[in-house]
Amino acid sequence: MRSRARLAHTIRALAAALALAAGATRADAAVRVVTSTEDLAAIVAEVGGDRVSVESLARGYQDPHLVEPKPSFILKLHGADLLVVVGRELEAGWLPRLVQQSRNARIQPGASGYLDASQNARILDIPTGEITRAMGDVHPLGNPHYWLDPDNGRRMAQAIRDRLTALSPGEGDTFARRYADFDRRLAEAEKRWDTRMAPHRGTQIVTYHRSWSNFAERFGLDVVGFVEPKPGIPPSPAHTLALTQDMKRRAVPLIVVEPYFDLRTPNALARATGARVLVLTPSVGGVKEAGTYIALFDYNIGLLVEALQPAGAR
Ligand SMILES: [Zn+2]
Repeated sequence: MRSRARLAHTIRALAAALALAAGATRADAAVRVVTSTEDLAAIVAEVGGDRVSVESLARGYQDPHLVEPKPSFILKLHGADLLVVVGRELEAGWLPRLVQQSRNARIQPGASGYLDASQNARILDIPTGEITRAMGDVHPLGNPHYWLDPDNGRRMAQAIRDRLTALSPGEGDTFARRYADFDRRLAEAEKRWDTRMAPHRGTQIVTYHRSWSNFAERFGLDVVGFVEPKPGIPPSPAHTLALTQDMKRRAVPLIVVEPYFDLRTPNALARATGARVLVLTPSVGGVKEAGTYIALFDYNIGLLVEALQPAGAR
């Protein structure tokens, strides 16, 4: 009993300290921002600097389609001036209900404190004809993993700059200057990434989920198949068999897997076809090396280039 009382006391003290710390950041911040993912938080931090506070609800190592809602999310949403979402139904399974429950009119869809970052982005895989969500496809409005094209990162940063400026006009010059600096560093990094990826243009790969369409388009990879039969549908024996035959025929060298998927089917595919399994991280914060938006690409491109080197050069 005594240790339980001590624990309760410690938790209360910790909660008070956390509240103080949060208050200290927020008092200085012009805009309190909450984002659904760490990728968005990283871009908000680039543009907003110390003029904003920013917190992500999901962690970078989580499947952004399937985030377990926590009571703390509602508290964070309740105090936010701006909510930035990936949109395209990426968060449809967990976020809309929390936004309703936050009882914060500022961040409801349509309000000035709600920003869907997909609005100016280049969106791929937009379904034609009937929408297939009824069959389990979790990408009914096009591919929501669009942040994996750095030019979309730039467009997202522009939208964030404009919204932060609308919410805090006095800081507009700061946001404009910080955006220009991010844009310059991103353009430099893109040259570096293009150079490294140039020898591998046209390489055929298979990915687990349809997370890499924008990345592949930007860097010239050819995604020829998916371990999932449809986005959000787990591997099936019939699909895996057909994929094995297709991968053998094409001599696909690489299976890219997101960190939150089971490796059994990718490993079985690798054994059957001679391909290699490579775990890449689609989000900032998925691994500690991918701590910023630019570092996320440096990390993944580094692993890709290493994996695609001819066997003798490894
Ligand atoms: Zn997806």
